[in-house]
Amino acid sequence: MGYIDTQLFINGKWQPPAEGKTLPVMNPATGREIGRVAHAGRPDLEVAVEAAQKGFEVWREMLPAARSKIMRKAAVLVRERAGEIAPLLTQEQGKPLAEAMAETLAAADIIEWFAEEGFRIYGRIVPSRVSVTIRQMVMRDPVGPVAAFTPWNFPINQVVRKVAAALAAGCSILVKAAEETPAAPAALIKAFADADLPPGVLGLVYGTPAEISSYLIPHPVIRKVTFTGSIAVGKQLAALAGQHMKRVTMELGGHAPVIVCEDADIALAAKASGAAKFRNAGQVCISPTRFLVHRSIVGDFAAALTEHAKALKVGNGLSEGTQMGPLANPRRLDAMTSFTEDAVRKGAKLLAGGQRIGDTGNFWQPTILTEVPKEAKVFNDEPFGPVAAIQPFDRIEDAIHESNRLPFGLAGYAFTKSLKYSDLLARKLEVGMLWMNMPAMPSAEMPFGGVKESGYGSEGGPEALEAFLNSRAVVIQNA
Ligand code: NAD
Repeated sequence: MGYIDTQLFINGKWQPPAEGKTLPVMNPATGREIGRVAHAGRPDLEVAVEAAQKGFEVWREMLPAARSKIMRKAAVLVRERAGEIAPLLTQEQGKPLAEAMAETLAAADIIEWFAEEGFRIYGRIVPSRVSVTIRQMVMRDPVGPVAAFTPWNFPINQVVRKVAAALAAGCSILVKAAEETPAAPAALIKAFADADLPPGVLGLVYGTPAEISSYLIPHPVIRKVTFTGSIAVGKQLAALAGQHMKRVTMELGGHAPVIVCEDADIALAAKASGAAKFRNAGQVCISPTRFLVHRSIVGDFAAALTEHAKALKVGNGLSEGTQMGPLANPRRLDAMTSFTEDAVRKGAKLLAGGQRIGDTGNFWQPTILTEVPKEAKVFNDEPFGPVAAIQPFDRIEDAIHESNRLPFGLAGYAFTKSLKYSDLLARKLEVGMLWMNMPAMPSAEMPFGGVKESGYGSEGGPEALEAFLNSRAVVIQNA
């Protein structure tokens, strides 16, 4: 299957880096280099930022209808090209082709939703308390050129959520996507370029993350920063943005609790949370990770989840029937070893997995740990991999307390037939997104984001547009 090298996209042109530097791109299923990605240096960034400013001046003046038309054309192109884009994504990131295809097609849906939502950026006329001749207006306009930083776990999805919302709001946006997974986001950006987006409105660079963020965030042209990635890096970037009074959206890590109550449908809970747990080999910010199961059913639930895990077909994402691919990079293998060994050392029982598979590629067995003590690392730090940790609870209040114990608050899951429990959980769980009796189902039209250390701002729904808009008060006396 073919793979392509990735260039920079600056001022409407695909180009090599000015200083000629490139980085290798590895296939996590084979451990082999499959291509190169351009490494932007200071000269490239200077041109890219200047182009973002010029692009903004053009784009902000275009009518929502004209912007929407270009965006919808890009969505059509993404859909038409999904068959070519998805294999690029699988080769550089590892996820099964079906997941790569779903991510690519979902990108088209997201673009279309924001293309429509761009029509609904309304201001307000507010009655004056002083005189009928005073017209008080609330105007909404785009915040300005945006710098976006995206990770490797959903190379298309994380980019498209930012790009579609920024463009719909009338902002230009310069993306630094993940160096590990460059070709798929480049293919997404190409769809916008081929849909006749004016030069500079959208840019794409790769390089050394800290060099790029420390140049772009303080730059006076950049008015908004949006980042998806780890909490540690998010805090650094938010602090830098704060020093320069830049608007920020942070979509960071989580450690999603799954509360399985005594009245839950155990088969449904194991199937839905098992599918969600091992999707993208668990490298998902909303992945279910801390399974809190009522003591009366914990044995049955653990057995059902173990059966699910053991039946999964792990392999190269391009191979027919693969249900779970490799981890995206060798760092994650080391992390899985450390999480598993630590839990077992502290008294957890290993029901499935716990080992690397083979010595080629970054394959890890789907892993289930039960009776995991609260002190185990896996119950405190985000595993970001195919490891499920189970712990029993006696009272729903205890499960809620344990869920809220950590500083994270991204996603949560619960399984119960009780109206009382579901209402209690909806009110008490400190998470930005909660799914009950089902797997996660994020969509363009629903808010996507966390609370507490999982970040702030939303990447879905009308709230996602808010992040890219200024509200300004303009008052005119007409007599
Ligand atoms: P990392 O902390 O090294 O990097 C996370 C992301 O931030 C990467 O995409 C990286 O390119 C980027 N980054 C790092 N330093 C940066 C800087 N100074 N400026 C701009 N961008 C920078 O972690 P990693 O090993 O790549 O991933 C592991 C951890 O990251 C996981 O444990 C998980 O918590 C988190 N993560 C979260 C998400 C998410 O969807 N929220 C996605 C990927 C990774």
